[in-house]
Amino acid sequence: MRVLVLTGAGVSAESGIPTFRGKDGYWRNFDPAKLATPEAFARDPQLVWEWYHERRQRIRKARPNAAHEAITRLAHHAEDFLLVTQNVDDLHTRAGIPAQRMVQIHGDIFVTRCSRCDWRAELCDAERSNFRDHPGLAGARPSTVSNEYEDGIPKCSQCAALMRPGVVWFGEQLPWNELERVENFLDGGACDVVIVAGTTATFGYIIDWALRGSRDGGELIEVNPEETPLSRFATQLVREPAAIALPHIVDQLIRSR
Ligand SMILES: [Zn+2]
Repeated sequence: MRVLVLTGAGVSAESGIPTFRGKDGYWRNFDPAKLATPEAFARDPQLVWEWYHERRQRIRKARPNAAHEAITRLAHHAEDFLLVTQNVDDLHTRAGIPAQRMVQIHGDIFVTRCSRCDWRAELCDAERSNFRDHPGLAGARPSTVSNEYEDGIPKCSQCAALMRPGVVWFGEQLPWNELERVENFLDGGACDVVIVAGTTATFGYIIDWALRGSRDGGELIEVNPEETPLSRFATQLVREPAAIALPHIVDQLIRSR
């Protein structure tokens, strides 16, 4: 069985990670869609880092839900499998998806990288307590980031520019190496099943990948409480939250193949 799974914020929402949409997504009266931009970081990096710090904290406290677990089961069952998630949290990883079977197309919130060069630092598990002094460094290994700061934001040890969260902001390009992994998987053959879960499919590339994955008559299963631009192409529509629907869908797929 060859399977492609595309996930979005709806999958993490059920673990208590707020989405960017609607009033619930607001943080201190700020619209996250306006904070998650290169312009906001250029204007007020301290503010943007504080927001990301709080998100990191919240994600650390959250746990993978039944949707994450179902996708992991499918990943272990299918011969060929790729999960492409738009989520920057680590819940799929903590649910046990092998790294080589997952692409985080919008980046990883637990990476801190340079805003100018390629320098990046993975974060260790322990959250640092001195956030007040160094918000950008929260959770990072100090030696891998920098000993220098500008207004509390760590500076790159290679080029001295400000460090930033390792996520893709609105208006930015998708990371080419991750894009290449998705393209390679799609070029490797059509899928028997494509599942699109918890995403409103507002980005054209999500629709494109779902359609290319199911191009040779494969099943295209959409799991989302509301209609999306992808709905009219789906062979199966499940209007339920992912954590309710996915365990059943995965059970059926594993039993049938
Ligand atoms: Zn740098």
